[in-house]
Amino acid sequence: MSSPVALVTGAARGIGLAITEALLANGYQVMAADLPTGESWNYALGDSSLLKEHLTTHADNHNAAPKVAVCDLDVTDSASCQEAVQRTLETFGQLNLLVNNAGVVDTGPIAEFSESAWDRIFAVNTKGLFLMTRAAVPLLRSADNASIINTASIAGKKGMPNMAAYCGSKFAAIGITQSLAQELASDNIRVNAICPGIVGTAMWLEHLMPKVNAETEVPIDFDTRSSQLIPLGRPQSVEDMAGAVLYLARAENVTGIALTIAGGMEMN
Ligand code: NAD
Repeated sequence: MSSPVALVTGAARGIGLAITEALLANGYQVMAADLPTGESWNYALGDSSLLKEHLTTHADNHNAAPKVAVCDLDVTDSASCQEAVQRTLETFGQLNLLVNNAGVVDTGPIAEFSESAWDRIFAVNTKGLFLMTRAAVPLLRSADNASIINTASIAGKKGMPNMAAYCGSKFAAIGITQSLAQELASDNIRVNAICPGIVGTAMWLEHLMPKVNAETEVPIDFDTRSSQLIPLGRPQSVEDMAGAVLYLARAENVTGIALTIAGGMEMN
């Protein structure tokens, strides 16, 4: 039987890169997809050309046949989503697992929040799930152990101040996950979500975490701040998220769940 094939979005770095590497290490062939270079946002986004370099080195180091390929993808663009799925089919012949991991964050008081930031957050975090899923479902219908895993967030389970757009988009991601799990069950396609807590990626280190304490101006350390917020006293790792994806990819009787990996910070 041929190795299963995964398509991972937002794969250039952070959680998406760890998911890609874990899938490769566990026998998957992977189409790793991210934005081409130069997209501007309130922090620098990933870059598929760096991903190409990184994964080529990975393949060389593991002396492996090309189990991994890289493509440019903008999940907000329907044609780009169709193309990524088509590239996956042409390269690997099938698609068993779609990991909708691409995401962006912005924060701020609602009265000052820009309409363009609101629209982009929903375009990437919510509409992106629709466009990628719509493109992938025809292939998933004919695949063994077909499933979709969406990266939602603990922000999809509990509202937080200054985060209406991000929380709204991640609540929607969980609703979409549950809805599609019901709808696609008869096609034998499972649909689940992971809900990361605090993971030290660009999202946290370059945007969410203030650099200094506003009152004392003392620099804020990521691990210390995380330990104050998280009952288990430590942030989560990208490998924790990859482990959750591997579990959901294999769990043939699990569908419709939003699995929280947050050290006790969110328990619903
Ligand atoms: P990250 O910024 O390092 O990774 C996000 C990736 O998504 C980037 O490589 C970026 O280029 C890509 N991306 C953004 N817009 C895209 C688009 N239009 N098309 C294709 N790719 C696009 O951050 P991360 O923490 O690794 O985030 C991964 C996922 O995890 C996101 O969905 C995020 O919301 C979610 N998440 C992260 C945390 C955390 O603590 N870091 C917590 C909860 C949820």
